[in-house]
Amino acid sequence: MKFYFPDSQDLVSPTYDFERDEYSPFRVRQRDDLYAHEVLESPPYDGILVSKAIVDGSVSGAGKYSAPQRARLYRLGVRKFFRLPLGIETLGDNGAFNYIDERVPPVTVEEALDFYHECGFDAGVSVDHVIFGYEPDAGLDSANPEWIERRLITLRLAAAFLEAVEGNRSKIQPVGAAQGWSPESYADSVRQLQLMGYRRIALGGMVPLKTPDIISCLEAITEIRSPGTQLHLLGITRIESMEEFDRLGVTSFDSTSAFRQSFMDDRRNYHAADDDYLAVRVPQVEGNSTLKRNILGGVVSQADAIKAERECLRRLRGYDAGACTLDSTLDALGQYEAITKSKKSYLEAYRKTLSDAPWRACGCALCKKHGIEIAIFRGTERNKRRGFHNLSVLSKKMKNLTLNPRNGSLRG
Ligand SMILES: [Zn+2]
Repeated sequence: MKFYFPDSQDLVSPTYDFERDEYSPFRVRQRDDLYAHEVLESPPYDGILVSKAIVDGSVSGAGKYSAPQRARLYRLGVRKFFRLPLGIETLGDNGAFNYIDERVPPVTVEEALDFYHECGFDAGVSVDHVIFGYEPDAGLDSANPEWIERRLITLRLAAAFLEAVEGNRSKIQPVGAAQGWSPESYADSVRQLQLMGYRRIALGGMVPLKTPDIISCLEAITEIRSPGTQLHLLGITRIESMEEFDRLGVTSFDSTSAFRQSFMDDRRNYHAADDDYLAVRVPQVEGNSTLKRNILGGVVSQADAIKAERECLRRLRGYDAGACTLDSTLDALGQYEAITKSKKSYLEAYRKTLSDAPWRACGCALCKKHGIEIAIFRGTERNKRRGFHNLSVLSKKMKNLTLNPRNGSLRG
């Protein structure tokens, strides 16, 4: 079972100064900043997934790449651009979520294939159109007409994509995209893709589905799946169901959720082997809009806010070094919470995070190097490192699963 990490140009600066909260004046972003596979002891993924929409932008707006970054990716190719170690695979797709509101995909088969070729991907997904809805009882011809149309568009583009790959004698492994709204429609898409000649198929549009619904679809697919056909789940983790997915023919998946939870979730920011923790919020006075407004409005004194912020950091570091008690650390956090007028108090969850201190038991290179800083929710350098840490935890969880050896990851 292989895990692909979807790229969104998430890097960290190795020379960032946590004490002063500042970047090195000598930092050159594109030269010095590092990807997760460069800062952890071993790459936390088997591959990366790069979406054309993230690189080139789409109808929904500009991508995540600046013009010079995009030019470098095309010039260097995906392996060199990402400085990928041997064994890490590359998969391209179109980022269909970025044009979900369009009637037809705004990207052609030729444009997609050009993107895959120019960047030198190992594999590329055919152009698809996401169906946002699940109705297990809606028949192939009686479902929402837009869904029916989107499925047919996806199949038509898959046929054209395979033809273009073969016509160009391309070395890219073609991955057929399957869309659907029910077990029957997904299974029929997979059946048709197999007939076209696809041996690797990516199941799209399943992100909003409940796990039992995904399993129902996979079970229906199993009935028609050829023994050699590999399935990829686009955008899905669900580690607790991974062994079942594996039994149902899934050999790879991609997801940003372990990474993004580090700074997007209201509860599960720091992952550990058997528990998840809330990261300790110490917002920067400068970076907190509510606080800035209250300072400008005279409700809060800027000097008090800065003092409380620094005291939090001082005591958190003191706590990690054994020089401050848990209660005095929580006191400082409580005072800063009062000043930032946080809508809810997180102190009870902080007590658990701090007393368990999971970073001390974590063997990842980032926790070993930065200690408690990884558990502090503050600024992109800490938050992304915590996301990278979460990826390393996911990778360890994957290694502990009982999976079919046939689907073993490269890193074994
Ligand atoms: Zn760690």
